[in-house]
Amino acid sequence: MKVPMVDMLAGYPPIKDEIEAAVKTVFNKANFILGEEVSKFEKEFAAHVGARYAVGVANGTDALRLAIIACGIKPGDEIITSPFTFIATAETISQAGAVPVFADIEPGAYTLDPKSVEKKITKKTRAIIPVHLYGMPADMDAFLSLAKKYNLKIIEDAAQSFTGKFKMEGKNWKYLGSIGDCGTFSFFPAKNLGAFGDGGLVTTSDDRIYEELKALRNHGQKARYLHEMEGFNSRLDTVQAAILSVRLRHVEQWTEMRNLVAGKYAAALNGVCVTPSVQANRRHSFNYYTIRFDSKARRDNAQKHLTEMGIGNQIYYPISLHLQKAYSHLGGKLGDLPVCEEAQDMVFSLPMYPELADAQIKTVTDAVKEAVQVSV
Ligand SMILES: *Cc1c(COP(=O)(O)O)cnc(C)c1O
Repeated sequence: MKVPMVDMLAGYPPIKDEIEAAVKTVFNKANFILGEEVSKFEKEFAAHVGARYAVGVANGTDALRLAIIACGIKPGDEIITSPFTFIATAETISQAGAVPVFADIEPGAYTLDPKSVEKKITKKTRAIIPVHLYGMPADMDAFLSLAKKYNLKIIEDAAQSFTGKFKMEGKNWKYLGSIGDCGTFSFFPAKNLGAFGDGGLVTTSDDRIYEELKALRNHGQKARYLHEMEGFNSRLDTVQAAILSVRLRHVEQWTEMRNLVAGKYAAALNGVCVTPSVQANRRHSFNYYTIRFDSKARRDNAQKHLTEMGIGNQIYYPISLHLQKAYSHLGGKLGDLPVCEEAQDMVFSLPMYPELADAQIKTVTDAVKEAVQVSV
């Protein structure tokens, strides 16, 4: 049995009529650019995560870029982030003229390590971008206290973690992306809340940042042809917003289904490899289900076996950003950030989507079990 990494069509039939009706409405109104479906979706999204504002943008990369600029980051400023992420997290720091500074990740959690971050803080540091990688919440208590102590902005890269939550100081549950100064989201089809194309969004509860974001996404305009600054063409498409409004109504149920799949994977792989461990103060959104082996040889062997069997698998991410050629000018080298350098050699992710069936889960976990029995 072949098992794909994601199955974009599996969730479509139950919501097909709702989606098609929503799209038709936009077609009939032809309000394609910043139509009312965009502001409707923004309000719904902000209410869902418990932020005061949401601003729809063209994609998750732009969400980061605009959030960084709206937070007042200037050329030469430093922003500390994780090297164990998709390049968009760091790319956008450079695009805003700032300098990405990489700190290490927490062993086991794969999210940015606040202790490593504190060691990298200099007089030029203005912000931290924790990445809730795979859907696993980063330690937001620790990042908020660093922000307070050193007067830094926090931009949460929540591209993989919509519907994930963190229980602040063990008391109040907060949605990821509503905790820092800004939260950035991607609606790339394979994310927890996927559009039928590209899309992104920034959440904030700060009035000034909100006004700035709205202007930045639309050529710096606060009113038509009134440009207080230069901006970008980065608007969330109205058709996508209409689709996202429909999908938003189902996303919590999909996250519950993802968590059920994760529970079945964990039960079957207990003692076979290291499965994600989620602390009691966190809700994982399981955009990806990532397992870890005790050596690179064992990881590579297991990955090869799954590929041969037609089972989807992917290493997120095989080369940490500080070791990529794109960042060689920053002088990073092997040995600088040992936790993420080890993780990149030991992990890969299994198929994960809400509709994954028990028989598919068994095929996947049996294949992993077979692979680890082979001595390498
Ligand atoms: C997907 C992703 C992004 C970028 O989102 P796009 O919508 O593809 O531009 C940024 N950060 C992380 C961690 C991502 O996974």
